[in-house]
Amino acid sequence: MSTPMVRAEGVRKHFGKLEVLKGIDLTVERGQVCCLLGPSGSGKSTFLRCINHLEKVDGGRLAVDGQLVGYRQQGDKLHELREREVAERRRDIGMVFQRFNLFPHMTAVENVMEAPVKVGSVSKSDAREQAQDLLARVGLGDRAHHYPAQLSGGQQQRVAIARALAMRPKLMLFDEPTSALDPELVGDVLDVMRQLAADGMTMVVVTHEIGFAREVGDTAVFMDEGVVVEAGDPRRVLVDPEQERTRAFLSKVL
Ligand code: ADP
Ligand code: MG
Repeated sequence: MSTPMVRAEGVRKHFGKLEVLKGIDLTVERGQVCCLLGPSGSGKSTFLRCINHLEKVDGGRLAVDGQLVGYRQQGDKLHELREREVAERRRDIGMVFQRFNLFPHMTAVENVMEAPVKVGSVSKSDAREQAQDLLARVGLGDRAHHYPAQLSGGQQQRVAIARALAMRPKLMLFDEPTSALDPELVGDVLDVMRQLAADGMTMVVVTHEIGFAREVGDTAVFMDEGVVVEAGDPRRVLVDPEQERTRAFLSKVL
């Protein structure tokens, strides 16, 4: 087996006295889609933020692509990453939030090309060309010159996905990407994510879309109150769960 893309072992996180993650064990293999489900407040977003260096882990081990999050290993010594090193690692991880967070004063194509141009990894004209391709890939080839305010929520979210892909990440994190959308706009966003999964992207997806998790997920992880209650094949966990807490949650969201 190759190194997993994400490996969490006993990951802990607290905010003051509040223990939010109480020892999370979770592995995401390369090319797999891991769907994270659980009630509000169970720690799903915090866990994603830990993977993406937005929160510091307080205990346990968390590695992305074999590298400990927040640390650089030299021999058998661990050194805390400097800000610049964190920024470099984060370039390999794309994240899409519930709210699209596009730059309102930039067109779709400008939003998508912003990061590659800023880090100077490509020329502006190459970045523009790649951004056009990415917009086509998310079904918005004809919306490149629209501003976010001229796009529907679902279109904005697809631009946000294209923007996250522009840095050619090896891992994509989605935090309830369809929760803020009108129901009729959800399908297009899920279709883009489904295609991304089919293309082999490694993804961790926090979602309440049980159908998506069942069809697209390689694993489903049910979290509650900072622990993994149950994890495994979505066709089992989300259809015939072993744990009463999973059952109770599913009966509410279905
Ligand atoms: P979920 O995404 O599953 O709804 P979160 O990870 O957002 O859960 O939050 C888990 C718990 O941690 C909640 O009780 C939330 O209020 C708390 N929390 C999250 N971020 C912070 C923070 N920066 N400071 C204090 N408490 C936080
Ligand atoms: Mg959340």
